[in-house]
Amino acid sequence: MTFDYDLFVIGAGSGGVRLARMSASYGARVGIAEEEDIGGTCVLRGCIPKKLLVYASHYPHEVDDAKGFGWTFGDGVLDWPALIAAKDREIGRLSGLYVNLLKQSGVDLHAGRATLVDARTVEVGARRFTARHIAIATGSRPVLPPLPGIEHAITSREALSLPALPKRIAVIGGGYIAVEFAGIFNGVGSRVELFYRGAQILRGFDDDVRDFLAGEMTKQGIAIHTGAAIDAIERAADGTLALRVGDAHAGPFDAVLFATGRVPNVEGIGLEAAGVALDARGAIAVDAYSATSAESVHAIGDVTSRPQLTPVATRDAGLLAITLFGGRRVAADHEWVPSAVFSQPEVATVGLTEARARDVHGALDIYRTSFKALRHTLSGRDERTLMKLVVARDSQRVVGAHMVGRDAGEIVQGIAIAIRAGATKAQFDDTIGIHPTAAEEFVTMRQKVAD
Ligand code: NDP
Repeated sequence: MTFDYDLFVIGAGSGGVRLARMSASYGARVGIAEEEDIGGTCVLRGCIPKKLLVYASHYPHEVDDAKGFGWTFGDGVLDWPALIAAKDREIGRLSGLYVNLLKQSGVDLHAGRATLVDARTVEVGARRFTARHIAIATGSRPVLPPLPGIEHAITSREALSLPALPKRIAVIGGGYIAVEFAGIFNGVGSRVELFYRGAQILRGFDDDVRDFLAGEMTKQGIAIHTGAAIDAIERAADGTLALRVGDAHAGPFDAVLFATGRVPNVEGIGLEAAGVALDARGAIAVDAYSATSAESVHAIGDVTSRPQLTPVATRDAGLLAITLFGGRRVAADHEWVPSAVFSQPEVATVGLTEARARDVHGALDIYRTSFKALRHTLSGRDERTLMKLVVARDSQRVVGAHMVGRDAGEIVQGIAIAIRAGATKAQFDDTIGIHPTAAEEFVTMRQKVAD
């Protein structure tokens, strides 16, 4: 049987674009469909615009710090619409770059929503295409709990493009997105209250990291309410919003941002028609080769239950291109995936938390340090840095590294290479530090935390 394409990709986000381009580089005839702009969550409404706003929110702190170094600046004024417009220009440029890269790779771009007619046929608008392989890379979207008044809430998507800066904002949730946006809005001058239903923010991260970050965020003026499950959002006659939390009320707020997780985009794309099964989470079930229950259909990225991280999606996309067209089957590997939370201060982590490492490895050696970074000896800012190494006692292998502090993501990226390569604590100790940096603490921690 002949097909219109060797591969048809549904969804042109980071994963889908990488898969399409790499497959084309192997000589495959590739089509890709996208119903929105090209770029997906990361480029258009996630990592990139978020990080640009994080940068913007750092400036007031930097100006404050500068006083300790002898500088005097006048009062700063943020032109929020100008910031959003600058951010949108950059996002537009990146999206255009993706379009050009796809075209230069010889990939056919089909604008519109694609649905599966069967396991080898895709429909985009009025057109049908057959393909030897189909890949689903439709990503995920924010989910809102069904509460009274939830229509007044915004998600991260709207928060990145608010026409005016809210003076007071409530952030609901305690995950990556909640703490990142709490930091952004606090930095640009909004009054921020974070409401989390559990006992401590960032569930799943190392407990020391969670406590430390909560302490630092509180010092910066963010009010963190734990054990605070929201029952309703109420809108007052003056347009302001209030939260009902049990018997108590909180507010008024100008915006209420829900960052309560993301769900895979699986609806209305014809998965049943193609025989593609879902897992218990409602995501597309895949094996280590990104294969679904339908032989000719694969899935990558946030539409699966793999870590919802762009570098995971792009890596898996590359591996899938090799498997389909590169003459070699390569399985995905999600061990030692580092990640950063762009909170203020930043969190970065690779490997196991202390609690998880205890389950896996038994006895541990824990090394932990917290200190005031050199710049803050003059800046006067009351901010501390935390670093922690989790070492399996028997093998002396470093199985986890955690940091809260400036540039944590930049620092832990390098540490992740060592940990993935199986470095022992002695090899960390043998490594000469770069002085004076915060990062050098990772190779100079000698004192074990008492058992
Ligand atoms: P997360 O799953 O990380 O966090 C969701 C938060 O919302 C948790 O604190 C959760 O509480 C809480 N929650 C869930 N449901 C409800 C509810 N019904 N009512 C109240 N609270 C609720 O999701 P995010 O939305 O923060 O981010 C989604 C994913 O995107 C992340 O997990 C991450 O993989 C990715 N991401 C990565 C970033 C990065 O790499 N820097 C940045 C942003 C996102 P509980 O802990 O009790 O379950």
